[in-house]
Amino acid sequence: MKFKILIVICALSCSFTTAPDWGFYGHRKINKMAVFTLPPELLVFYKKHIEYLSEHAVDPDKRRYAMKTEFARHYIDIDHWDTLPFNNVPTEYNLAILKFGKIQSVKDGDTSFLELKEDRASDFYKSYIEENRYDTSWPLKADEVESYLIDNIDPSATLTYENEMVKYGIHPYFLEEFYYRLVNAFEKKDEKYILKISADMGHYIGDGHVPLHTTLNYNGEMTNQVGIHAFWESRLPELYADDSYDFFVGKAEYLSDIRTHIWDMIKSSHALLPELLSKEKEVVDQFPEDQQFCYDQRLNQTIWTQCPEFCEAYHKSLEGMVEKRMQDAVLSIGSFWYSAWIDAGQPDLSDMSEVSVEDETQRKALEQSFQNGKIYGRKH
Ligand SMILES: [Zn+2]
Repeated sequence: MKFKILIVICALSCSFTTAPDWGFYGHRKINKMAVFTLPPELLVFYKKHIEYLSEHAVDPDKRRYAMKTEFARHYIDIDHWDTLPFNNVPTEYNLAILKFGKIQSVKDGDTSFLELKEDRASDFYKSYIEENRYDTSWPLKADEVESYLIDNIDPSATLTYENEMVKYGIHPYFLEEFYYRLVNAFEKKDEKYILKISADMGHYIGDGHVPLHTTLNYNGEMTNQVGIHAFWESRLPELYADDSYDFFVGKAEYLSDIRTHIWDMIKSSHALLPELLSKEKEVVDQFPEDQQFCYDQRLNQTIWTQCPEFCEAYHKSLEGMVEKRMQDAVLSIGSFWYSAWIDAGQPDLSDMSEVSVEDETQRKALEQSFQNGKIYGRKH
């Protein structure tokens, strides 16, 4: 209730921050620092483009304003499906879609769900799911799919495939597919594509290290902690990363099992949620209410955000959690880039052209959607 009143008062004179994951600052920093984890064969090439990699670290968040299928790549509400260690959630995307997806039939306002024949499921996937696998829902034709189903179909009913995975986020699945796109870009020695995928991939790996990207309670709505998302991942790094975080995290390593690495990232993020939430609650309970939020000046805008002293209290109680997740993200990004290069047969990058990799038309179009557009999916 108090939160709502503040919004009304604030609407006339200030605005709230709606910074995207890790904040723009955090993503740019993580991508930049990942370059320094690379061995010399890659370091020279990546360092030449370090500004591009840093600047474009936030493209995937901007793309949420331009592309309907973008939002689900940034998170997975894994607690909708299972509890740690998530043994009931298939780590292969096709199997997960088939396990949790629904064939919906609607007739005269009545909805029912139809079941696939087990021995025809993989054929069904190839013919009617694969191409649409990143969409939320799509139509099916009764006469075409009838033979795949156990149940009889009413030919006048409206059939759709409901992809439940997209509804709750596809982060680990998409990241795995994305990794192979980078391998492919290295194989082709396509400079533009290598850099574009590398920058985007840094973003998705960064998101995967944020505990609140792995839960239905992503902004504290379920525990009366609304606003905790930006507090943890944007406000704290903005205040402390430059002065007190150590980003020299060692050398990138070859990841022989990308899928396991991705799922370990999700599990370790998710395991931090209880502490992340309980520490915030403790700080909120202990701190005088009128000293938790303050006005702050940012880029000609007055914003209403957590006061520095209040941030300090949360920062201290987390005992380095945010810093550690950012460090792990940096090392993981470097290791993904390095592993993709190895898997592509270690192509020689020293003879790459010196041309600019920036596509001005594309950059402007994305910027325009971000500035003027409406976000698809949720904000966090
Ligand atoms: Zn994101």
